[in-house]
Amino acid sequence: MSSKLSGKTAFVTGASRGIGRAIALRLAADGAKVALNFSSNVPKAEEVKAAIESAGGTAMLVQGDVSNFAVVTELIKKVVDEWGRLDILINNAGITRDNLLLKMSEDDFDKVIATNLKGVFNCTKAVTKMMMKQRGGRIVNMSSVVGLKGNISQANYAAAKAGIIGFTKSAARELAARGVTVNAVAPGFINTDMTAALSEKVKEVMMQEIPAGRMGTPEDVANAVAFLVSDEAAYITGQVLSVDGGMAM
Ligand code: NAP
Repeated sequence: MSSKLSGKTAFVTGASRGIGRAIALRLAADGAKVALNFSSNVPKAEEVKAAIESAGGTAMLVQGDVSNFAVVTELIKKVVDEWGRLDILINNAGITRDNLLLKMSEDDFDKVIATNLKGVFNCTKAVTKMMMKQRGGRIVNMSSVVGLKGNISQANYAAAKAGIIGFTKSAARELAARGVTVNAVAPGFINTDMTAALSEKVKEVMMQEIPAGRMGTPEDVANAVAFLVSDEAAYITGQVLSVDGGMAM
C-alpha cells in the first residue's frame, strides 16, 4: 500500500465490477478509505471489500441506486457520519440499453439518462456543499469515447456521456475557487462485463478503430483516475482525459 491518499476518503459508484472495481482497489492501494457503491450485486461488492481489507485497507459497502437522489444523499451522509469527511467522488456507475433509434423505447432512453447522467448530478450535488466547505475535493466523472464521437445504437448512452462532459465543465467552473477539481475520463473499449455483452462482430469492428491494437483494461482507466485525484493534479480541472488507445483522436 502507498500513502499517496492516506487520510483521504473516497466514494466510488459502480464499484462492484469492471472499471469501478479497479478504481476502488487502486484508491485503496494508494491509501484512501473507500466507500463501495453498487446497485444489486452484493457478492461481487463484498468480494471487492474483502480484497481491500485483506491488503490492509478500509472499505464500506453503500448499496443503492445512483438515479435516486434521496438514496444517494443518505449514502453520502452515512460515509461522512462514519469517516468524518469525503475527499474524492468517482461517478462511475453506468448502464447500457443499446438499440437503433427506430427501435429504442422511451424507457431505454430514460433509464440510461437517469443512471448515467442524473446519477452524476445526484452524487455531485450531495457532496458539493461539504467539499466547498472543506476547501478541497476531487470529482471524476466517467464519460466515454461514445460521448465524444457518438455510436450507432447508443443515442441514449452517447447523450448521457456527452452530457457528463458539459456537466463536468460547469461544475469545474463553479468549484475551482474552492480547491475542488472536477474532471472527466473518457474510456474507449475496455474489457468488462459491459463490453463482454457485445456480439463478436461488433467487437471486431471496435478493435479496428483502436490504434493501440488492444482493448483497454480496467486498470488502464484506474491509473488515469488515480492521477486526477492525486495532489499532482491540483491544477487540472474541467478536462476530459481519453483513455482509449488513441480511439477518439
Ligand atoms: P460494468 O462492468 O457493467 O459495471 C457497472 C457497475 O455499475 C456495476 O458495479 C453496477 O452495479 C453499477 N451500477 C449500474 N447501475 C447502477 C445504479 N443505478 N446505481 C449504482 N450502481 C449501478 O460497467 P463498466 O464497463 O465497468 O463501466 C463503468 C463505467 O465506465 C460506466 O459509466 C460506463 O459507461 C463507462 N465506460 C465503460 C467502457 C467500457 O468499454 N467498458 C467504455 C467507456 C465508458 P451491480 O454490480 O450491482 O450491477
